[in-house]
Amino acid sequence: MVDLIPSSDTVMQILKRTGAFREGHFVYPNGKHSPHYFQMPLAFRYYDTARVLAVALSRKFRVDRDISSQLPKVSIVSPSSGGIPVAFGVRDALSAQQIYWAEQEADKRRFRQYINKGEVNPCIMVDDIIRSGNAIEETDALVKELGAPVIGCGAIVRFTSATDKLGAVPIRSLVEFDAHMYDEGDECSDCRKDVPVKHVRF
Ligand SMILES: [Zn+2]
Repeated sequence: MVDLIPSSDTVMQILKRTGAFREGHFVYPNGKHSPHYFQMPLAFRYYDTARVLAVALSRKFRVDRDISSQLPKVSIVSPSSGGIPVAFGVRDALSAQQIYWAEQEADKRRFRQYINKGEVNPCIMVDDIIRSGNAIEETDALVKELGAPVIGCGAIVRFTSATDKLGAVPIRSLVEFDAHMYDEGDECSDCRKDVPVKHVRF
């Protein structure tokens, strides 16, 4: 039987090969040190890879009867620019009718102007990576303001430290990643070995 959803290991191999998963001594904007960093758009720059990842994620939604019974009158919604290629790929795989995405504008997350209440189909929210869960929670509030229910949520990678539910909706992912974050200094094994740091933007 064909393996319809690639294993977490297979997905991690894709992310490594494309440079989206990186190992080193990284400093995050919040000052935390980590031996790992995900730069997900590097995996989505290759059309074939983007397609494999988005189709795999779409299968996690299609198996849900509540979701599949509402297709194609569904919106695929991304909380940010990183999730846009995921949203288009998942939309294609599910033949969903609509796509929306939010953007950060002067530190506030919003949809573009002139999207009216009642125009948005029930939503499946997708992102490339869920680190804290803040982006999807903020977008969930925006979607609800527009009068649309969220019926599904997922990402290619979810940090296990982030929430695994959005209200009653489970968050589906291809990889559940146990991210290690340390304070600078003795706690960080790379600091102890004087490994030069790389600062990452977000
Ligand atoms: Zn360090």
